[in-house]
Amino acid sequence: MRDGDRRGKTWFCGWLAGCFYVSLLCGCGIEDRAVGSGKPVRAGDAAAATAVAKPAPIRVDLRWPTPNSAFADGKDYADFVQPTVSGDPRSGLFGSVRSGGRQFHEGLDLFPVTRDRKGEAADPVGAALAGVVRYVSHSGGNSNYGRYIVLEHPLEKPAVYTLYAHLQEVSPGLLPGSLVAAGELLGTMGRSSSGSPIPKERAHLHFEIGLRATDNFAAWYADRGFGSPNPHGIWNGMNLLGVDPLALFTLHAKSGGLSRLTDFFADLPPALTLRIARSMEPDFVRRYPELVQPNSDSGVASPGGWEITFTSSGLPFRWQRLGAGEVLGWKPGEVRILKVDASLLAENRGRKIARQRAEKWVPHEDLESILGQLFLR
Ligand SMILES: [Zn+2]
Repeated sequence: MRDGDRRGKTWFCGWLAGCFYVSLLCGCGIEDRAVGSGKPVRAGDAAAATAVAKPAPIRVDLRWPTPNSAFADGKDYADFVQPTVSGDPRSGLFGSVRSGGRQFHEGLDLFPVTRDRKGEAADPVGAALAGVVRYVSHSGGNSNYGRYIVLEHPLEKPAVYTLYAHLQEVSPGLLPGSLVAAGELLGTMGRSSSGSPIPKERAHLHFEIGLRATDNFAAWYADRGFGSPNPHGIWNGMNLLGVDPLALFTLHAKSGGLSRLTDFFADLPPALTLRIARSMEPDFVRRYPELVQPNSDSGVASPGGWEITFTSSGLPFRWQRLGAGEVLGWKPGEVRILKVDASLLAENRGRKIARQRAEKWVPHEDLESILGQLFLR
């Protein structure tokens, strides 16, 4: 849909929102898709579905963001991942995949399957899920992401974001607040970046899926004195904590698919569990309440802190509120690490999550930074 002039109108938004809702209820996508690997839904399918006594389980309508069908065809990641100059396809995956494992890459780099006459990437880039445009950075020189778009997906639980970077062009009329259908055209793949130039032959989509750490990012960023301005507000990449997109697509592609994202988040590999004596409720928890587990301790009526489990890249994906009695005698804000999976941390050593000091695990700089964002420390 390129009809940007209609986007801002309330009736249109309302209609589209209604379509998303119906789409989720009947487990089908919106037919008018620009890219993606699924099949468009025919009008008769909905009627056929209602005739069946037991409806099929609702499946998350997750679309591959580029026209490359290699993943859907079950091919190896080398058939869709754009490597760095190293040429090693692993270097385009999510994780500590660069510089011999010392450098973390928080996304998935996808190469183009179409090029224009000048040899520039020409793949359309589509929304991986239905959602809302939260941020569009039109300037290629303001971020390592180059020209980029962030979508939020409020109909999912948790309401993940997706990010599309290094774009050559953003679809006209795509504005913060615009609703987009799964697979809807967002822009054209490219190689924009404020960092080292990306050569034509390595043009790609940098694609992220994750959660947003804090509403108070601007204050946190200013406090840290990074020495460079942040023109992106809360949509700065440092405020976005990623998961491995390929792991999510792989789970989704399995027979039966994925009926809700919470199942993916519940099964993330736990790399570290800690407790923090801080009773405040981070806005992260209010944004993603489905990541909070109940605590049967009656003392929770008087909150004292949190028990939090992180992935090896630092995503806090499991939370439990602690009663005051469970952190009795702790210093305010004190952090104690309860459990560490050292092999998971070692596999992701480009992220500095925890280190051993006097035979005790303590938070390392990236985890300190994440705790700082979550708890405004
Ligand atoms: Zn990338």
